[in-house]
Amino acid sequence: MRGKFVVGNWKMNGGLAANKGLLSDLIAGWTATPGRQIAVCAPYPYLAQVAAALEAAPIAWGAQDVSEHESGAFTGEVSARMLTEFGCRYAIVGHSERRQYFGDTDAVVAAKAAAALAAGLTPIACVGETLAERDAGATMAVVLRQLDAVIGAVGADAAKVVVAYEPVWAIGTGRTALPEEAQAVHAALRARLEKSKAAEVPLLYGGSVKADNAKALFAMADIDGGLIGGASLKAAEFLAIARA
Ligand code: PEP
Repeated sequence: MRGKFVVGNWKMNGGLAANKGLLSDLIAGWTATPGRQIAVCAPYPYLAQVAAALEAAPIAWGAQDVSEHESGAFTGEVSARMLTEFGCRYAIVGHSERRQYFGDTDAVVAAKAAAALAAGLTPIACVGETLAERDAGATMAVVLRQLDAVIGAVGADAAKVVVAYEPVWAIGTGRTALPEEAQAVHAALRARLEKSKAAEVPLLYGGSVKADNAKALFAMADIDGGLIGGASLKAAEFLAIARA
């Protein structure tokens, strides 16, 4: 399961015309490469457009969130089954913006990961410390607590998860963790996953990854690729990161 994997998180950006251009530039610029995969995670309303555009392309796609509930009176929510019904493969869970602005707790994130897996989706589970937590020396404790919540909820399916380490202070700020700093966190996450027989889980790094810093980050032993926000909206930049 471990290979190089670069995922674009469009966040709440895009539009039919802009998506069309971005997707066709990605299709034109990306050739299927053994051991390397790319994916884009788009806002819900555009998933059908993305699915149609990428139908014959070696580019996967996913959602940016998923409900922890199966169905029912949860206005505004989208279930994992609804996503899989039209071919969705991935769902990001626990992005720091969901945790920060929408109250997603460790328990909610873990339940979302479990709901995704139960429906056949691969969750991309995000973990990461805030600047205050980093300054307090709590990075490892925070990311391992967040990971443990997911492992606890998914049990033996831990090996089917993708994990993204995204230090909150690096997301959209232009600040990136040094490759060695990120590697140290990834090594700790990998060790924890190993205990759950999930050592082969792809471990992505996210936080202001650009074409000019991707190579050094992706060269680290336990960094298998990236979760890319802002830079995923520019095809040339995203493709350069994917090729790094
Ligand atoms: C993200 O949204 O997951 C992210 C890493 O954003 P950015 O690359 O813009 O920092």
